[in-house]
Amino acid sequence: MNHLLASIREKMKNCHCGHQHKDIPIEVIELDQNVLELVPGYLEAKNYRAITVVCDANTYLAAGKHVNNLLEEAGFNTYVCCVKPNDRGEVAADERSLVQVLLETPEETDAILAVGAGTLHDITRFVCYQRKLPMISVPTAASVDGFTSAGAPLIIRGFKQTIQTVCPIAVFADLDVLLQAQQSMTAAGLGDMLGKFTSLADWKISNLLGNEPYCSHAAEVTKEALEGCVENIEAISRSDLNGIKILMEALITSGIVMVMLGHSKPASGAEHHLSHYWEMEYLRRGKAALLHGAKVGVATIIMSSIYRQMADGKHGLTEMEHWEQVRNIYATLPEQEQLQKWLRSVNGPVTAKELGISDELLTKSLYEAHTLRERYTGLKLLNNNDVSPIEMYYATGVFH
Ligand SMILES: [Zn+2]
Ligand SMILES: [Zn+2]
Repeated sequence: MNHLLASIREKMKNCHCGHQHKDIPIEVIELDQNVLELVPGYLEAKNYRAITVVCDANTYLAAGKHVNNLLEEAGFNTYVCCVKPNDRGEVAADERSLVQVLLETPEETDAILAVGAGTLHDITRFVCYQRKLPMISVPTAASVDGFTSAGAPLIIRGFKQTIQTVCPIAVFADLDVLLQAQQSMTAAGLGDMLGKFTSLADWKISNLLGNEPYCSHAAEVTKEALEGCVENIEAISRSDLNGIKILMEALITSGIVMVMLGHSKPASGAEHHLSHYWEMEYLRRGKAALLHGAKVGVATIIMSSIYRQMADGKHGLTEMEHWEQVRNIYATLPEQEQLQKWLRSVNGPVTAKELGISDELLTKSLYEAHTLRERYTGLKLLNNNDVSPIEMYYATGVFH
C-alpha cells in the first residue's frame, strides 16, 4: 500500500499548476489483511514505548482489544481510553469527549492510536495536536475520506467547526476489521466517494467563475479513485475483500490529495455544503447525527439532478461568460437513476426522505447552504443569479 503514497507523490511531482503542494507527512499506509500485526514493529522502530489506545465500546471490540493485546504481548505500556457516549447514546467529537481523552491520556504517552471511524479520529487528532503527540490511525470502517486529514470537525458549544490539528503519521487499515463493519458504514464510504462527481465539477467551475486555485493533477488523482469505485461497484456491494480494499484505497487517496493541496476543494462541493447544513440543523434540534457519507450520498444525487437540469439551459444563465464550459461540466454528471442504483446496491439511502430530511429542511438548505462557505459551486451560481434550485429539483420529476 505504500506504493499508493509513492504513486500519488509521483503524479503530483510533475504538476505545473503553479500552486504549492505540501509533501505528505504520512510515513506508512498499510491496507491489507492482518496489518494490525505490523503496529508493534512500527512503534518499536519509532522508539515509542507508552501507547494510548483511543476507542469506544464498539471499536474496542472491533479492533482496539486486539491491537492492545498485540502491544501488551510485545512489552509496550498501554492505556485504553474508551470514549463514553453522550445522552443520546452516540460518541460525538464534542467538548466532553475531548476533555475525557485529554484527561485520561497518561503523562508519559509517546503516541496515540485512534481506533475507530471518523469521529474517534477527530477526537484523537485534536488531543494529539494539544499534547504534541504523534497520531496513528487504525480505521475500523471504510466510511469516510477524512482519516488522513489534519482538519478536525468538532462540535463546540453545539456548533460544528473545523479546527486545524495534525495528520496521522501512519495508517493501519486492516481489511479483516473493515469487513466486519456494518453495511451502513460501507454505504457511507461509497456515498462520500460518489460525492466527488459533484465536488470535482464544482471545483472546475470555481476556477472558471470564482478564480479559485485549481490543480488538474489533483483532480485527476481524485477522479481515478472515484472511477475505481464505480468500476468495482459489484465487489463493493458484495462487501468482499477486494471491493472493500478498493473503496478504502479510494477514500485514503482522496484524503491524501486534500492534505497535499492544503484544502478540500476536490472532495467537497455543494453536496458537502448541503450535508453540513443538515448536520447543523440536527445539532440545533438535538437530534441524533446521521452518518456523514449517507448525507453526502443523498446530497450528491440531489445536486447532480439539479446540475443536469441546469445544463439543459432553460434559464437566464446561458448568457453568462463561460456558459458553454459550465454546461459541459455539469451535463456529463451521472443521471440520478444511475447514482441511486449504485447507492442502492450497498443498501444506502437515496432520497432525502429515506434519510429523514424533511421537505422544509431540504428547501431551506438549497437556498442557504451555499452561504456556509466562500467556495464557489453550482449551487452558489444558481442562488447568486436568482435561479431557484428548488424549482429545478422538482423539475427533474424523479423525487415526487
Ligand atoms: Zn466527506
Ligand atoms: Zn498542482
